Amino acid sequence: MSPGDPHIIQRDKHSISRKHISDAALKVMAVLHQHDYKGFLVGGGVRDLLLGGHPKDFDIATDATPEQIKSLFRNARIIGRRFKIVHVRFGREVIEVTTFRGSHDAETQSKGSRPGNLLSAKSESGMLLRDNVYGTLEEDAIRRDLTINALYYSSDNFAVYDYTNGLHDLENKTIRIIGDAETRYREDPVRMLRSIRFAAKLDFKLATDTAAPLRDLAPMLGNVPAARMFDEVLKLLMAGRGMATYKLMQDYGLFKPLFPQTAACIEQGQAMADTLLVEALRNTDLRINAGKPVTPAFLYAALLWPAVQQQIEKLKANGMPEVPAMQQAAQQVALAQQQHTSIPRRFGYPMREIWELQLRLPKRSFRRAQAMMENRRFRAAYDFLLLREQAGEETGELGSWWTTYQDSDTEQREAMTKKLGKPPGAGKKRTRHSNRSNE
Ligand code: ATP
Ligand code: MG
Repeated sequence: MSPGDPHIIQRDKHSISRKHISDAALKVMAVLHQHDYKGFLVGGGVRDLLLGGHPKDFDIATDATPEQIKSLFRNARIIGRRFKIVHVRFGREVIEVTTFRGSHDAETQSKGSRPGNLLSAKSESGMLLRDNVYGTLEEDAIRRDLTINALYYSSDNFAVYDYTNGLHDLENKTIRIIGDAETRYREDPVRMLRSIRFAAKLDFKLATDTAAPLRDLAPMLGNVPAARMFDEVLKLLMAGRGMATYKLMQDYGLFKPLFPQTAACIEQGQAMADTLLVEALRNTDLRINAGKPVTPAFLYAALLWPAVQQQIEKLKANGMPEVPAMQQAAQQVALAQQQHTSIPRRFGYPMREIWELQLRLPKRSFRRAQAMMENRRFRAAYDFLLLREQAGEETGELGSWWTTYQDSDTEQREAMTKKLGKPPGAGKKRTRHSNRSNE
């Protein structure tokens, strides 16, 4: 075997069976073959099948160009600019089909690849700006991120093709970046997050060379567009292994460039900041693994709470009353965060509601408590209160009060609110009008 030849594992020597591949993916490969194109299952699909798991989606690599792929399927759409890929839809399932990608360096492009240096571009820091140079199967393999993600399965001869020793790393539970780690991270800093994401997800260890540059290069994540970072954060923290992933992010300095405000609170030793995140992620993991719904709004509320709290205290120290202090703090912290990871509005609003309700949960006149229960964000706000308590925040047993309240009938609820007595300031005389406007 000369360098560059793949290690080919024949069908009786690996564990992938067609039975575990979706009909849609098999269909795409069959159509490609019918038209004399190559078609391979690649990436997470092959990796997870070899590990005995259930892939969440199937990606296919081919030598057909995006336009050629599109012409073969009725429900095909070309998407992406940085990477042109084709989505082929079968009912609810989408198969991602990508053309083999080549090397970016014109000199190192093999004879088999089509010229196209203008189609790729790098920034001064080595970051890839465009990447639409087509290439051979081998070139496609070595431009992928991790060796375990660069295994190809052919539905033509049922063999697995391995150009990067990925199978060896899969067997040895090792995350290894393909090529020179520093160069590959500079090309695309998100690969740093991918390395630790798969380490946490699969419970693999990072190869020494793969881990070595992480700390120094972590600040490069600041160059990644905020919208892409938001998607990455969800994959990192909302995929069932969030707590383990968070710990690796902290170990390698990758949390700070994503959430600098929260990282600063933790660095300054703000009591409970780190515990709050660990507990939030522990709960999130439990919910996901039990098949319960989770929302980025809640997770982001937790991720930024230490910073919001710190800001509220600052504003209050300057004489601002609690409610406007909260509103201003929420606004400032959310705005600053958007520089690093965007927060789509559909999550940003509920996130702020969860924070604002934290100030209202202690105000428990009978009427206010009833209204609180009817608030559509009550459940999330109550869960958030329990989380703060879990992290050690002192709330005067507010959480257990609300737990009991929810389980009580109207009479008991009335008794509970009476028993609390009037909160300080509640006895002040108010006109009818001002009373109402304060509700
Ligand atoms: P999963 O979908 O389970 O999270 P995956 O490995 O399929 O894992 P995708 O994000 O779907 O991950 O990407 C598909 C494949 O594309 C990867 O397996 C990898 O080979 C390649 N890839 C994805 N992102 C990058 C990147 N930033 N740099 C290089 N190759 C990448
Ligand atoms: Mg995938």
